Amino acid sequence: MLSVKFEGNQTATIVETFLPPVGPDDVLLKIAYCGLCGSDKRPFHNGHPVTPGHEFSGTVVEKGTNVKNLSIGSTGIVYIPLFCGQCSECQKGYPSRCETKPGLVGWQVDGGYAEYAMIPAKNLICLPEDISLQEGVLLLDTISTPAHGIRLCLKFFDNELPGKAAVIGCGPLGLGSILVLKAMGCPEIYAYDISEARLQQAVSFGARPLTVNDEKTLDAIPLVLEASGQFSARAMALDLVKAGGSVLLLGENNAPWSIQPTPKLRRKDCAYVRSFYFIPAEMEENFNLFRNCRTEFNSLVSKIGTLQETENFHKDFCEGKTIKPMIRPHSA
Ligand SMILES: [Zn+2]
Ligand SMILES: [Zn+2]
Repeated sequence: MLSVKFEGNQTATIVETFLPPVGPDDVLLKIAYCGLCGSDKRPFHNGHPVTPGHEFSGTVVEKGTNVKNLSIGSTGIVYIPLFCGQCSECQKGYPSRCETKPGLVGWQVDGGYAEYAMIPAKNLICLPEDISLQEGVLLLDTISTPAHGIRLCLKFFDNELPGKAAVIGCGPLGLGSILVLKAMGCPEIYAYDISEARLQQAVSFGARPLTVNDEKTLDAIPLVLEASGQFSARAMALDLVKAGGSVLLLGENNAPWSIQPTPKLRRKDCAYVRSFYFIPAEMEENFNLFRNCRTEFNSLVSKIGTLQETENFHKDFCEGKTIKPMIRPHSA
């Protein structure tokens, strides 16, 4: 089979490998679509030890002897955290926090920029009939990751979505977050991005453009989502959040970061939430979020290319030219 290798320096080559042997608890997926993600940028620059790609869908073409709940021809999307199913977090329904089995598909084991991938059968999330394999990819980091973070924050609002929220950074994660808030019924959503084109896309989804140091929004937004990973955006989030509110950190950045504990911030009595991925029990609700704003979510998928186009797709993506492009390894 063919798969992509990130060699570093924005180079992606196509390599030919043997199909992996299917373990007793695994399935072999024929990959349908794999979406590009902001977190791919680092491995695309630095090189990556395994096949990259962590937002993908596919069809089961082979299964291990212990796999009973899936058939050849079953379709779905891949839940990337590897998990044991036995530890206390797994038992509580939080496999994303598994205590004994670290590792993520596409990060520590081979992922989705390939013709096939072998995954544990329990990591396949089956899709309802009305959601296609292309749409299914959006149900991963575009929808379910921000939705999980927002739900964690609701604990600070007596489990009710506040009437006002802001999203800083309107890349794929930020625009997804805006649509998730909209699909959840948030009436007043503010958006900020230095790129006018991205901000306009947010506005087309119903968001109101946020201006820096606007008295209406400073210290006035109960729920602020930071979706860029930029330190300036994190500082902005802390400026915007209303006392008693919550800042949700979704954007990634590996560099050490410090917060200036100003007297004003000290008195904000606010929460700062770092969420990771999502949990399977939320999927039914997430399918409904997608259905609520199907056209808008689908509009994020700007381009679809072949495996051979992976390098160029990532270069354009890194330059901000596309929002949620996808690779389709097999021709239709
Ligand atoms: Zn992602
Ligand atoms: Zn576990």
